[in-house]
Amino acid sequence: MGQRHRTAAANTGRSRNPVIRVSLAALATIYLLLFLAAVFLFWIVGEWNRRRRERRALQHRLRCVICAFEFEDHTDALLPRCPRCGSLNERFKMEQI
Ligand SMILES: [Zn+2]
Repeated sequence: MGQRHRTAAANTGRSRNPVIRVSLAALATIYLLLFLAAVFLFWIVGEWNRRRRERRALQHRLRCVICAFEFEDHTDALLPRCPRCGSLNERFKMEQI
């Protein structure tokens, strides 16, 4: 009974305190790293989603080569017709500005 109590006290007094102190610092470091990693991950995912949305928005977007009018075309026509001047346009990718 008394021996068990003494070993427990020795454990808490000698070895546990430094372990707690070290693990606290390690925990703080890990927490900070995890927090930074999470922020970075959220940023990457958000940027990726934004790019994908932009690309999808620009997918059907065309600019007339004659009058520079921008319009949406959801048909499968090879040469979509400009709604303003009626000229046929080639389908090429809109560049991001
Ligand atoms: Zn046009």
